[in-house]
Amino acid sequence: MALGCPRCKESNQVLHLPAFWKSLPRESELRDEYAPPLEYRMQWLYPVAAGALGVVALVTGGVAAGVVLLAGGVGVGFWLSGRARAAEDARAKWSRSWICRRCPATFLREEALAV
Ligand SMILES: [Zn+2]
Repeated sequence: MALGCPRCKESNQVLHLPAFWKSLPRESELRDEYAPPLEYRMQWLYPVAAGALGVVALVTGGVAAGVVLLAGGVGVGFWLSGRARAAEDARAKWSRSWICRRCPATFLREEALAV
């Protein structure tokens, strides 16, 4: 069974996106266009530092500052992990994508037509 492009319905130019991207010459401008999404490096330092300062403030009697710092650290940590997850999802989607060299459309395997 071949994969057909969901847009133009052709199957003879459908390629696995990562393989297509790797096959591009280094100077090809398509390399940027179809590059895998960037990895997101989690910056744990700020949320952890804010949380640690919050604990110190709580222990030393600065309850208001401690609560604010702890909540801020947890909030930022949660937000960062959401961004990291989104970047991971985008990379996973890229590695499961196919490209049609006729139209050119990119699509997931489950969106492809069975030809
Ligand atoms: Zn197509």
